[in-house]
Amino acid sequence: MVQPRWYRYVGPADLRDEAVAVNAVVLDAPATLDGWLGSQGREERNEPFTFVIALDGMLRLGPRRSEHVALASGQDVLAAGELRFAPDGAGRCVVEVTNQSTGYCPDPDCWPAVGVALDLLGVRHPGEFTAKLVFRRCPACGERNIVRDGDFTCALCDSALPKLWNFIPN
Ligand SMILES: [Zn+2]
Repeated sequence: MVQPRWYRYVGPADLRDEAVAVNAVVLDAPATLDGWLGSQGREERNEPFTFVIALDGMLRLGPRRSEHVALASGQDVLAAGELRFAPDGAGRCVVEVTNQSTGYCPDPDCWPAVGVALDLLGVRHPGEFTAKLVFRRCPACGERNIVRDGDFTCALCDSALPKLWNFIPN
């Protein structure tokens, strides 16, 4: 098994500094998830939520507009993205889950941390990200890029982007 990678926040510092007060729910038991989803409006419940997997391995959820760094209280994470639930018998299952977080730019390889956290909650899930984003930092200008259609070119300065994930924490 590959040692899990930790992701450091790589977004703008002002977001990190102003976002520490968001009320994220820490999901450590199936009942916590049921309770939290029950407290959301009918519309919100079926919208994607922002999530992070904190270093303790627990899933933290917040409304979609939440910054990942706020959910993580500014800390490193094992994974980050968005996920959406759908009704599944008496409960809920995850029908969409992505690594979409421009704050942490996680590699799709972070999936195992997500799968383990969802398994812990007894929530059925697709077994992998339903959409995988490829993040690269431009070595020339520092811009955070999302690689689309295999085009490894910086959107800002046209420099070539590396083939391997390169947001290496210090
Ligand atoms: Zn660039």
